[in-house]
Amino acid sequence: MNKLEIKNPATNKVIEKLNFTEENDINSKIDNAYKTFLSWRETDAHTRASILKEWSYLINEHREELAKIITLEGGKPLKESRGEIDYARSYIDWYAEEAKRLYGRTIPSNTENKRIITQKSPVGVVGAITPWNFPAAMITRKIAPALAAGCTIICKPAVATPLTTIKLIELAHKAGVPQNAVDYIIASGKDAGRIFTEHRKIAKLTFTGSTPIGKKLIKQSADTVKNITMELGGLAPVIVHKDADIDFAVEQTIAAKFRNAGQTCVCANRIYVHKEIEELFIEKLIAKVNKLNVGNGENSDVDIGPLIDQEGVNKVIDQIKDAQNHGGILSSDLNSLQYLGGNFLKPVVISNVNNDMKVMNEETFGPIAPVMSYTKLDDVIKLANDTEFGLAAYYFTNNYQTGLYLYENLDYGVIGWNDGLPSGAHVPFGGLKESGYGREGGKEGIEPYLETKYLSVGI
Ligand code: NAP
Repeated sequence: MNKLEIKNPATNKVIEKLNFTEENDINSKIDNAYKTFLSWRETDAHTRASILKEWSYLINEHREELAKIITLEGGKPLKESRGEIDYARSYIDWYAEEAKRLYGRTIPSNTENKRIITQKSPVGVVGAITPWNFPAAMITRKIAPALAAGCTIICKPAVATPLTTIKLIELAHKAGVPQNAVDYIIASGKDAGRIFTEHRKIAKLTFTGSTPIGKKLIKQSADTVKNITMELGGLAPVIVHKDADIDFAVEQTIAAKFRNAGQTCVCANRIYVHKEIEELFIEKLIAKVNKLNVGNGENSDVDIGPLIDQEGVNKVIDQIKDAQNHGGILSSDLNSLQYLGGNFLKPVVISNVNNDMKVMNEETFGPIAPVMSYTKLDDVIKLANDTEFGLAAYYFTNNYQTGLYLYENLDYGVIGWNDGLPSGAHVPFGGLKESGYGREGGKEGIEPYLETKYLSVGI
């Protein structure tokens, strides 16, 4: 039987082989998840909350082991992998509390002889499809609200990084989550997408991944009218205005740009700097970028690990060459960027950038920081909004009027003003336009797992 080989992107060595889940088994898992849903939804919210808290506790106990798995299968530097485990846990802690706050309403009736109440009910069995770039957090951001709401859930992690999911779900079962309330399958996205969208016992599909795949799934979901949440791609602009604190803006831009080697959906993709401070900003940015240490994420002093695979490297190189062909200036030449070979790429700053370059129009997913200058605020807002994406945007200014003006005029779901890391379990994360719909995190993040039912009583 054909096995899935999981490779370490730092060495390209196979670290594990797994069986794919047969289609019959996937269907049985869905049936079992449905049966378990009928009892799980009956458990009281406080019980669900305490099981989730136990899960969070066990994850913390296995923090080092889990972080190592993330680094081995995804290439992420170990210090970032530890951070991801803490981040992943924060969703569980948050939704353990939210489970207890799923309030209904009483509605004043329009006649004397009726009473009306509403109640929040879990939607049912959830199918979840997630990407490789945050193999822990993208999973708990879905499992925790689903279980808290009373749903059951089957996860399909990316084939590149399934080991983190397997370990997390093993710990969920150990914590007391019923076996079929949370489960996983090993399958290609194409197969899982087809089965999840066609199956009538899957009530909801929640997807995190690229916009083209999200669009396919939206179409596929039409026949069974699935409840869907789409967390899709981004092309985040960073605007550094002339009155910004330049050192702070450089530091935060680096945080927003180079986390996970630039492979995040909220990654600073396009950096616009006011003409008056452009030279100084670029000089300071290059000085800091040159200090970032590239290497195998298992080494504790590494800041930038490998990209996920050769395809990812090729896409980034293509963008760099395209920028060069359009007049872009690299802070290090192309050969020296690839000095470690394999899936490693040294981070680079590109200056003299213009809006015709691929790097300003395509999601990069790599350690390139392209910097373009602007003079008028309204022009840069227009440039920033001139995309089908609307996930994250950042800006730096110490003028409150400029700050509020940018907030009100940028068409993005997640906005950081003097803040390069605005994500968290307590906030509603999600995109506008083709970056998707639905929110994850905050009190909004449990809503997609709930239906509102109302009861009208004649008295
Ligand atoms: P991707 O290619 O869209 O893959 C994401 C998931 O979709 C994987 O599990 C993949 O399965 C699956 N998939 C692939 N083809 C499918 C199909 N035809 N039907 C159903 N599922 C399918 O994205 P990626 O390269 O892994 O991740 C990067 C993208 O995710 C970027 O665009 C990034 O911006 C986005 N992202 C968004 C957020 C957010 O919160 N908005 C967060 C993280 C990442 P396989 O196992 O077969 O690969």
